[in-house]
Amino acid sequence: MYRMGILAALRSKQTKATVGVMITASHNPEEDNGVKLVEPMGEMLVPDWERYATWMANSSDEDLDSTVKKVTKEAEVDLSVPANVFIARDTRPSSVSLAQSLKDGVTAMESQLTDYGLLSTPQLHYMVRCYNTKQAYGQHTEQGYYKKLAHAFQSLHKLNDVGGGDYSNQILLDGANGVGALKVMQFLNHMESSILNITVCNDGSNGKLNEMCGADYVKVQQKPSSGMPSQVAVKCVSFDGDADRIVYFYTDTNQCFHLLDGDKIATLIAGYIQELLTQSGLELNLGLVQTAYANGSSTKYVSETLKVPVACVNTGVKHLHHKAQEFDIGVYFEANGHGTVLYSKNAEEKILQACEDPSLSKDQQKSATVLKHFVDLTNQTVGDALSDLLLVETILWAKRWTVDTWNASYTDLPNRQLKVKVADRTAVQTTDAERQCTRPAGLQDAINTLIANYQSARSFVRPSGTEDVVRVYAEAATREQADKLAYEVAGKVYDLTNGVGDRPVAPSS
Ligand code: MG
Repeated sequence: MYRMGILAALRSKQTKATVGVMITASHNPEEDNGVKLVEPMGEMLVPDWERYATWMANSSDEDLDSTVKKVTKEAEVDLSVPANVFIARDTRPSSVSLAQSLKDGVTAMESQLTDYGLLSTPQLHYMVRCYNTKQAYGQHTEQGYYKKLAHAFQSLHKLNDVGGGDYSNQILLDGANGVGALKVMQFLNHMESSILNITVCNDGSNGKLNEMCGADYVKVQQKPSSGMPSQVAVKCVSFDGDADRIVYFYTDTNQCFHLLDGDKIATLIAGYIQELLTQSGLELNLGLVQTAYANGSSTKYVSETLKVPVACVNTGVKHLHHKAQEFDIGVYFEANGHGTVLYSKNAEEKILQACEDPSLSKDQQKSATVLKHFVDLTNQTVGDALSDLLLVETILWAKRWTVDTWNASYTDLPNRQLKVKVADRTAVQTTDAERQCTRPAGLQDAINTLIANYQSARSFVRPSGTEDVVRVYAEAATREQADKLAYEVAGKVYDLTNGVGDRPVAPSS
């Protein structure tokens, strides 16, 4: 933590701007902790500096001084430039003392600092961007953040108020016993009380952070969080421990659990923006960015039904964020619920002009105005569970949709993920956004042959980033076919890459 304080100060000096440090381990167990470093425009740390962070973390105490000098030299940091660092922490008990170490590191570099105390990760990202854009993005205070979102949401609620429909404003919110729960309750104080009826569960008063609750638990376990009343057909949302991820879910009248993950959220948002662009006559290029893990049904729905271009990139938020910047309006979400929408400067200017453009009809101007508030409702720095919740509720309200109607927009293909232990994961290499395997020779051909035996099937393999494991993904028309395909592909990986231990076999056979 102390070293990350030093590194943040160096990054601030190098960029001649304020940077941020968030103390959190996100969706991981309460005992874990870590840091996320925030760039001047509120984005995630650039790859070069991830490398420097690794040097710093792995340096011995004796070598720390020389490592700092090495980073300073390599990154061409001018130490005479003043530095400024914003810091915040999540609700983990360890975050309090770690914050002190972090501050010691920052001040050791004679840097200024502002300690925001408890914030969600996306709130800190927001503060940093607001400050560096001289408040053009909003006020760099918690009140400013809530006011901006509440104003945009309430404006959209009024603009879309045409009555009727099945929309319900009732929401059960799983705060993962973390900082997100506290911040939602603070946010609600800024809203007219009748607009959203949110009951916050897992607010940290009883349970442990992320324990049997939170977005990651719901996504991985495919079941509701504990600590929530089970109510049929009631819309539920789950945040993760630092509130930068969100998933929706509900239980239907047959007691069947339905998860609406990042893919479902992304398609809902992209479809709505597409409608607004058409209605307003604005000519801006809209795109959706996914990874290979996005369900094939979502890709088909977006590209064929909604006619929105889809780009596929390597796994990892930074790749999605980077690709989304290539569009006038880029929507990206990981299936786990982390994502947002990015608007280019050109897009924002055109939207603002269209709101007042006398050559447009009143209806066109209104659609542009809806889009303007939609931009303000978006935390463009990074995925933000609260902002994403408000975007989704705005759309459901505008369309008069229940969570069930939304879920029925397309049906996910059954899928299965497996891991194969191998002697050396570098034996597997991929291309085409990890969807095609180039090494070992013959593996991709073998996968193609297997896929051809199934309907609507897709499968890919990729090496883990951290361990000697190859990850296998398969989807197909039925649960049985998806499982079978996954095990067959895993078997081929085992055969062709020196698998370790037993050859993968489907449990039933
Ligand atoms: Mg998180």
